[in-house]
Amino acid sequence: MNFDVISPKTTPELLNAIYDNQSKNFRIGAGFTDLINQFKAQETEGLILINLAQLTEVDFKKISENEINFQIGALTTASELIDNKSIKENFPVLYQAANKLASTQIRNVATVGGNICNVSPSGDMTAALIALKATCHIIDCDGNERKELLSSFIRGLKKTSLTKKELIKNITIPKNFSKNIKSGYEKVGSRKSMEIAIVSLAYHLQMDDKGVITYAGVACGAVAPTIPFTTSACEFLTGKNINDISDSEKEEFAKRVLSYANPISDIRASDWYRKEVLFNISKTIFER
Ligand SMILES: Cc1cc2nc3c(=O)[nH]c(=O)nc-3n(C[C@H](O)[C@H](O)[C@H](O)COP(=O)(O)OP(=O)(O)OC[C@H]3O[C@@H](n4cnc5c(N)ncnc54)[C@H](O)[C@@H]3O)c2cc1C
Repeated sequence: MNFDVISPKTTPELLNAIYDNQSKNFRIGAGFTDLINQFKAQETEGLILINLAQLTEVDFKKISENEINFQIGALTTASELIDNKSIKENFPVLYQAANKLASTQIRNVATVGGNICNVSPSGDMTAALIALKATCHIIDCDGNERKELLSSFIRGLKKTSLTKKELIKNITIPKNFSKNIKSGYEKVGSRKSMEIAIVSLAYHLQMDDKGVITYAGVACGAVAPTIPFTTSACEFLTGKNINDISDSEKEEFAKRVLSYANPISDIRASDWYRKEVLFNISKTIFER
């Protein structure tokens, strides 16, 4: 591998580096766990790497909260999410997704921004963030900022709405916390660790104090080119009492989740197997 590396420490240095290299072949990297594999498979002669890992700006790194939002810097690693008490308490779906990603060594460097921008249908943290209706905060090298819902930021397999001038600064999750939640991340693979999901299901349900579901966010991974937010399944649950959901309603919910699946068969699993597993884990989230 043969490339030049630029390691900005501040946001102005970062944006200047992106601006100055617009006409050149450059890539942005954070933990490099995905990029390194891509570089093994492609010509890197003349490539410029803009390395985010040395940035000291808190907006890129910090997990924080205000009255409306919970904010996660794009450079936050999976391990940092796992170690954050508030994430564990309020968003078990995200805690579990980060905890089920790869191995300790990878989790220590794999970032949230990198997981999103790698745009894999089996991205664990991405699936959880889609279920939580997260928003990406994007900046560009001309100083502009914009926000986009994560589910629309991802435009297709390996495609996002980012232009060559842009990058993600942080991600926010709406802070409509409820103490009464059912939230988790089911990941099915062929082994316990270092396994990319064959199927995954990210779910986050919030209930009022009587058990009525006031928010339902459900996303499924590795069953379509992108990770869908299963709107019709979520609408079906909203307004129902979590304690009174009948077996036929559980089946209807699972059918609606399944309607978003259009999996492929590959060496890891057939399309039939992926659909069966998705249907079965969807039905059982109420018992977890
Ligand atoms: C052995 C191994 C096992 C793995 N297992 C899993 C797994 O179980 N689950 C899973 O989900 N993933 C897994 N991965 C994939 C990878 O670790 C994750 O996707 C990780 O979160 C990527 O983060 P990163 O910081 O390393 O990204 P990088 O490799 O640095 O970058 C990935 C992509 O994101 C872009 N990017 C990074 N940050 C930004 C930003 N702020 N703004 C715009 N673009 C940006 C880069 O340009 C690049 O295109 C595995 C990888 C390896 C090598």
